[in-house]
Amino acid sequence: MTSVYLDVAVESIQAYLSRTTDLKGRRGASAWLSDLTDRDELRRRLQENSDGWAAGVSVNDEAGEADGVVPLKLTPGCPPQAVAEAVFSELRGKLPALRMTAAWATADSYVAAHRRMPDRGDDPAAGDDAGHLDSLPAPGDFPLLVSCEQCRADPRVTHRDLHERKQVPMCADCAGRYDDRYRKPGLLTGAVPVSAELRLLDALELTPTNVVETFTDLAEIPGPSRKRNHLATVFADGNAMGALFRDVLATGDDELKRRVSREVSQATRGALLAATRAAMAVGQRPQRVPVIPHVVGGDDLLVSVTADRAWPFVRTYLTAFGERMRRIADEAELRRPSASAGVVFAHHTFPFRRCVELAEQALRHAKQAHHGQTPAVSWLDVNRDGEQRPPGRAAWTLPELTDRADWLTELAEMEQSAKAALERLAGSGGDGSEQVRRARIANQASRLQLAGLRSAGDLLDASGGPDRLVDALSLVRWWQ
Ligand SMILES: [Zn+2]
Repeated sequence: MTSVYLDVAVESIQAYLSRTTDLKGRRGASAWLSDLTDRDELRRRLQENSDGWAAGVSVNDEAGEADGVVPLKLTPGCPPQAVAEAVFSELRGKLPALRMTAAWATADSYVAAHRRMPDRGDDPAAGDDAGHLDSLPAPGDFPLLVSCEQCRADPRVTHRDLHERKQVPMCADCAGRYDDRYRKPGLLTGAVPVSAELRLLDALELTPTNVVETFTDLAEIPGPSRKRNHLATVFADGNAMGALFRDVLATGDDELKRRVSREVSQATRGALLAATRAAMAVGQRPQRVPVIPHVVGGDDLLVSVTADRAWPFVRTYLTAFGERMRRIADEAELRRPSASAGVVFAHHTFPFRRCVELAEQALRHAKQAHHGQTPAVSWLDVNRDGEQRPPGRAAWTLPELTDRADWLTELAEMEQSAKAALERLAGSGGDGSEQVRRARIANQASRLQLAGLRSAGDLLDASGGPDRLVDALSLVRWWQ
């Protein structure tokens, strides 16, 4: 039996969330999106039919959970455009600046329909049984209005009390992020509103008293590093997920088709939990959670992590995601999907919006470098690298990071002056051919007495060459 599968999704959700620089506004938006797209919430609204569009509409339980995506299933004859418009207006009623798209297709399963959705799948259908609709926020009618202090993106039209700051002028979207999402108006409590973050706290058996209130607090969580002012922004997503869904369709296994999308989102959530536990296990267990999830959607993940806990988080996340996906892949004799990540280290005052953009670029680099075949990580250390990836920087695969973990730990423990000297010798400045750099290191390293850790030749062999050594020296700045 066929149904019309309709996905209504927030566009560029990461960029949208990072419109506001402060963590509360960001959390408020995450919470609304998570709440508005929560299955139980959706079911309740459909049952009550309070929106008046529910006839013939049900929640699509075959879809995985994804913040910012409303997955619906319509009986034939029920008009997808009208339902999409109703969902658009409901979401925009809370967050006026959202950009959204809807896509639908008719099929006997969600995996089959998703491939045929225009603008979504890799085999879009034409004709009456599929379509899409875009929805942009209302244009600003008063271009002369002063812009909102929180986001600088829209004109200020109202004001709210934020902590001790009274009557802060802001746009309607920023105000929406604070309204009703916290127990008291004016953000008097530090409680985290309903969102992926609260689910994570529950799973860790912690409470909202265990969360930080600002990015500054997150950076200051005590850990092995003495520099307590840096954060890592981690952006991860699944490799070759399209191929997985194609393979599942080809098996003709109806039961698997119905649950594969959910399995993927459960792998993401399970891996997030495992990775957060790993981040908390570094050194002494911190009182407050060193990880803030911003978006957990399908196979996508965007989080902020205290810098000196980021590598255990990333390594565990990629390992755990792969293990969880391996189970389902092996069961159906399919190729095993994995995930890759982009990581950006920066001072906590560096704009979150820019961190997100750079992490996305790093993620793309990791995926392209290994054609999405192997779990891999590309990173940028804004203090050292600036906002451009250094030309020699490789995207390291998860096996490379794991196999070299002990060696990287030794390198991290070398004296700072020795590491700085090595970096100068291995770097490509001046005459930078590989042979020259190898010779330079071999000749001078012993003279510089590099903490007697290894001979220069061993260091080069263990790292895989001068470029890899430079990478390793960057990587160990936050290595744990
Ligand atoms: Zn604003």
